[in-house]
Amino acid sequence: MEKAMIDQTTIWQELGKITDPEIPVLTLVEMQVIRSVAVSEDGVKVVISPTFVGCPAMEHMKGEIRSVLAALGCENVSIETTFTPPWSTDMLEPEVKEKLRAFGIAPPPKNEGELVAVLQLPVACPFCNSTHTHLDSPFGATLCKQIYYCDNCRQSFERFKPI
Ligand SMILES: [Zn+2]
Repeated sequence: MEKAMIDQTTIWQELGKITDPEIPVLTLVEMQVIRSVAVSEDGVKVVISPTFVGCPAMEHMKGEIRSVLAALGCENVSIETTFTPPWSTDMLEPEVKEKLRAFGIAPPPKNEGELVAVLQLPVACPFCNSTHTHLDSPFGATLCKQIYYCDNCRQSFERFKPI
């Protein structure tokens, strides 16, 4: 007997529940890590875009995607990685950036490829919105974050690095 194909909407819904291992308030769909889903009689193909090159979480994310699809009963799952267009923090929707800020992480500013210029801009504290902040450590807990210190409310915070 032929199995009914699982529709894309259901797949997107379920994939939309996988949270980013480094930023638990965001999902892989919100992070634009999952770029496309194609369902055919040959199986399901998911295209993902790595965020930061060398991100150690990529294998973990692939595992999560596989288990979600397996739970849906999808067969012949393939996960492809694409680097075109390269992932950029500019892909994040404004509401996604707001979620980051509400979580206490300063969101990345729009860079349009002008990274050097953008990195000179003041970073607003996610707690008090003051721009009296300074870079405390260029490397945060992960590759994608930097540690800043707010001279106004005297708290350190993480900043999502623009790329
Ligand atoms: Zn502050």
